Amino acid sequence: KQLSSSEVRQMFLDFFKGKGHSVEPSASLIPVDDPSLLWINSGVATLKKYFDGRVVPKNPRICNAQKAIRTNDIENVGYTARHHTFFEMLGNFSVGDYFKEEAIAWAWEFLTSPEWIAFDPDRLSVTIYPEDEEAYKLWHEKVGLPENRIIKLEHNFWDIGEGPSGPNTEIFYDRGEAFGDDPNDPELFPGGENERYLEVWNLVFSQFNHNPDGSHTPLPKKNIDTGMGLERMVSVIQNAETNFDTDLFLPIIHKIEELSGAKYQAGKKNTAFKVIADHARTVTFAIADGALPSNEGRGYVLRRLIRRAVRYAMDLGLDKPFLFELVPVVADIMKDYYKEVLERAPFVQKVIRGEEERFQETIHEGVSILKEQIAEAKAQGKNELSGENVFKLYDTFGFPVELTEEYANQEGLAIDQAGFEDELNAQRDRARSARKDQKSMQVQSDTLRNITDPSEFIGYDQFAVDGVKV
Ligand code: ATP
Ligand code: MG
Ligand code: MG
Ligand code: MG
Repeated sequence: KQLSSSEVRQMFLDFFKGKGHSVEPSASLIPVDDPSLLWINSGVATLKKYFDGRVVPKNPRICNAQKAIRTNDIENVGYTARHHTFFEMLGNFSVGDYFKEEAIAWAWEFLTSPEWIAFDPDRLSVTIYPEDEEAYKLWHEKVGLPENRIIKLEHNFWDIGEGPSGPNTEIFYDRGEAFGDDPNDPELFPGGENERYLEVWNLVFSQFNHNPDGSHTPLPKKNIDTGMGLERMVSVIQNAETNFDTDLFLPIIHKIEELSGAKYQAGKKNTAFKVIADHARTVTFAIADGALPSNEGRGYVLRRLIRRAVRYAMDLGLDKPFLFELVPVVADIMKDYYKEVLERAPFVQKVIRGEEERFQETIHEGVSILKEQIAEAKAQGKNELSGENVFKLYDTFGFPVELTEEYANQEGLAIDQAGFEDELNAQRDRARSARKDQKSMQVQSDTLRNITDPSEFIGYDQFAVDGVKV
C-alpha cells in the first residue's frame, strides 16, 4: 500500500523523535520579530532564536514540519514538476549537539531503511561542497556511495552574510530515463536544471562564523539544519509524474474540474490547473495565519496570487468566483496536521470570495483592453507596453503589474516598468496635494490619515487597519 502524505509527514517526525529530537509544531507563516523576512520560507527560519543564541532550547535536538512560502519560485509553478509557492519543509536540527556524521547517517537510514521510506539506494546521489572532505568520506566510506554519485559543486555553501555559514549536501532521487536520457544534455546531472534528478533533501552544516571582515572562522558549537520537501517526497513515493499528481493536490484539481467542466489531462502540462491549485493552498494558509489582501507587503502578495489564479481560471472558462470553493478542499487535505485551516475555513472563504468578486467586476474588460493594447503595440512595431497603458490596467482594472507583465511576456512584449512607476508616483503626488488642500481631511485623526500599513488581523470576522476596525 502506498503511503499517504499525512503518513510520510508523521513518519519523519517519528523517526527523529526516535533519535532523541523534540517535535516543534509548525509556526505561523507570518514571521515574528524578524523584519528581514516577508514570509517564513524554511524550517530553520522559525528556529533562528535558538541558532543565534537568543533562546536556549530545552533539547538541542529539534524536528518539525514547517509551512513555508517562497514567492521567488512563482514563475516555476506549473512549469517544473517540483516547485510551489506554498510547501511544507520537514527538518531535523542540532543546536550545537550532533554534527555531520549523525546527520548524514540518519538521512540515509530514513530514506533507505525498509522500515521507513525504503527508497532503492541505487537511485540516490548527492552533491557536496568540493572542499568538504569530511562529507565526502562519510558518503563514500560510511554510507558506501560510489564516487560517481557524489558530485562536487562550488555553490554548495550556505552563506547569507554575517553569522553562521557552512557547506551543505543535497540528496537527489533519480526518477529514471523517462524524465531525461539525453547524454548530451549538459544539465542532466544531480544539481542541474532537469526533471530527472529530483532534489529531495538539503543538509546544511553550519560550522563557520562569517565575520564582519568577510573571513570565516570555525564556530565553537556547530549546528545542523536540514530541509526536506514533503511534496517532492510524496511524488516519488506515490509514483507521480509531478508533485501535483499526489494526494496533496489531486482533490483540489478534481474540484477545479468539477467547477469548470475542463479536464486535467494526463501527460499534458495543465499549467492553469496547477497554478490555481498551488495558489489556492498558499492564500488559504496565509489568510488562516492572519494575512489579508491589500496593496502593500504581504497583503499585496496575496492580492497578486488571488488575481493571478482568477486570470488563469479564465483559460478554463471559469468566469465567476470559484477560488473560495477550493478552501474547504485544502482544509480537508491538511486537517490532520493543520487544524487551524479547518477551523478558520469559513473566514478564509469570506475574504477570498470578496476579493474575487471585486476583481471579477473588472477583469473581463481589463483583459480585452490589454489585448487591444498588445495588438496596437505590435502594429506599431514596439517591443513593450507603455507605462501609461500598464498604469491604466493597474489603476482602473486592478491588474497587478506582474500580471500584466506575464501576459505581455507571453505575447513577446516587455513592459515599461520605469514609465509605470512614474505614473504611479505622479498619482501619489496628486493625491498628496489634494489632501493638503482639503481642510476636511485634516480634522481626521492621525490614525486614519496615516493609513499606509497593510491591514492586520484582529479576529476571524473583523478587519482592521492600524488597529482601527473597518
Ligand atoms: P531547488 O534547487 O529544487 O529549487 P532549493 O535548493 O532551492 O530547491 P532548499 O532551499 O534547499 O531548496 O530547500 C530545502 C528543500 O525544500 C528542497 O530540497 C526541496 O525539497 C524543498 N523545496 C525548496 N523549494 C521548494 C519549492 N518552491 N516548492 C516545493 N519544495 C521546495
Ligand atoms: Mg530553489
Ligand atoms: Mg537546490
Ligand atoms: Mg537545496
